[in-house]
Amino acid sequence: MLAFLLPLRCPGCGLFVPPQTARRLCPACRASLQRIHGPICSVCGVPLAAGFEICAKCAKSPPRFGKARALFLYATSARAHTDVLGSIIRRHKYGPNQALSAVLAELIEDGLPIEPEYDVIMPVPLHHRRLLKRGFNQAALLAAVLSRKLCCRLDVTTLIRVIATSPQTAQDFDSRRRNVHNAFAVRYPQRVADRKVLLVDDVLTTGATVNECARVLRLCGAAGIDVLTIARAI
Ligand SMILES: [Zn+2]
Ligand SMILES: [Zn+2]
Repeated sequence: MLAFLLPLRCPGCGLFVPPQTARRLCPACRASLQRIHGPICSVCGVPLAAGFEICAKCAKSPPRFGKARALFLYATSARAHTDVLGSIIRRHKYGPNQALSAVLAELIEDGLPIEPEYDVIMPVPLHHRRLLKRGFNQAALLAAVLSRKLCCRLDVTTLIRVIATSPQTAQDFDSRRRNVHNAFAVRYPQRVADRKVLLVDDVLTTGATVNECARVLRLCGAAGIDVLTIARAI
């Protein structure tokens, strides 16, 4: 009845989806998503040519996390306007549209590129001022969905962002790394010591942010830190 009165629009293309459909994203938008398969860097998860085990960047400076995995590729360049996932993620980030996290929950239903072997799931935190302004942390919404899916404890209070860094759009890895250096802290180190942590974010771009989170978690004695994002920017 509610679906009849308030027909749902596909969050990818804006077209109405039939009320009887169980999925929020229409079939055409689902088909346009680029799920990551094939050879990837065993550390950071970036797609690689066949025959390579690890990418040049990870070989040169190994990250502080164990491995990073993502479900889909994400175009950040000029063709981003045609990219369904990019448009969903951008709106998820900048508008308080929590229906979009339901869509992202739907996307992870088709399988995850990690094993359920973690003690705790933590989102990449927002600075409290940005959280107040935005009203929600999109990474925390995703982490909550994953916590239910993996039956794993969610912790949104231990890892905090203590410096409100400038938005990371259009910066290279080195400037991003400088930008986030010392931006995070662990409030309750005893909740991290000897635990296997899964860090969750929406998009992995250069990896500088999750790398810095992993660094502070490791300093507090975390047994391991892996990263899961919905999308991997290329
Ligand atoms: Zn659509
Ligand atoms: Zn790599």
